[in-house]
Amino acid sequence: MKTAVVTGASRGIGAACAVAMAKNGYNVILGYKENKEKAENLAKVLIEGYGVAAIAMRADVSVSSQADALIDIAYKNFGRVDVLVNNAGISQFKLFTDITDEEWQEMIGTNLTGVFNCSRAAARYMINAKSGSIVNISSMWGQVGASCEVHYSASKAGVIGLTKALAKELAPSNVRVNCICPGVIKTDMLSWVEDETISSLIEETPIGRLGTPKDIADAVAFLCSDSAGFVTGQVLGVNGGFVI
Ligand code: NAP
Repeated sequence: MKTAVVTGASRGIGAACAVAMAKNGYNVILGYKENKEKAENLAKVLIEGYGVAAIAMRADVSVSSQADALIDIAYKNFGRVDVLVNNAGISQFKLFTDITDEEWQEMIGTNLTGVFNCSRAAARYMINAKSGSIVNISSMWGQVGASCEVHYSASKAGVIGLTKALAKELAPSNVRVNCICPGVIKTDMLSWVEDETISSLIEETPIGRLGTPKDIADAVAFLCSDSAGFVTGQVLGVNGGFVI
């Protein structure tokens, strides 16, 4: 049975990705940082609802030893690491000149170094197996930049660069690496955004609604599937037409 590791699987997009992978018959490792109960409850739902094995594990992706441990749990329990979804991320809205050293480091550490840490750990197994798929969750702001989100945009642009370079390096080992750039998706990450701003973001989205975590999870499932066997190094916008 194939195995998927999803980081940031306690809620939002990551939780939807974990469900999508379980629906497709994967055993799932659900990474989280704070929300143990949510991750453990979701693991139970996956085991009972889809008949797969699921393990929730705390791992701060910005710390390489914890990222290594997260991936190792998959290998130790299931003997393989077929899919890695690098989804864990944080955001912050702040004037560029107010961003502190610590905030910059935390943003890059989580959103970019986290992708590096988990991908390096998983790639070691995938290269040996000559098979695997890594999907990185970037953002449309990594493509076009967002005012007052310079550190966030920079981290997500870095994820796009990492995806393209790693795809070239790992393709000869039959490991595919792709990236999804979500538009505005209804999750906790939007909880601080005022209703008025949400309305104008919806207006700016040609499809005329917010995205759902499932919109992103469906694209992740496609990129991990055999149907995407010739797709690597790509940046897939799932944004309702916001950025074209
Ligand atoms: P969310 O609801 O805020 O969930 C974030 C997830 O990341 C949680 O599971 C959280 O774990 C985990 N996490 C945060 N820091 C972590 C760390 N250092 N180590 C491990 N896990 C960590 O966010 P979301 O909206 O689902 O976003 C998921 C991804 O999509 C992010 O990379 C985000 O940048 C990207 N994205 C989101 C949107 C959007 O509009 N929502 C748009 C574009 C891109 P805990 O629950 O344990 O804290």
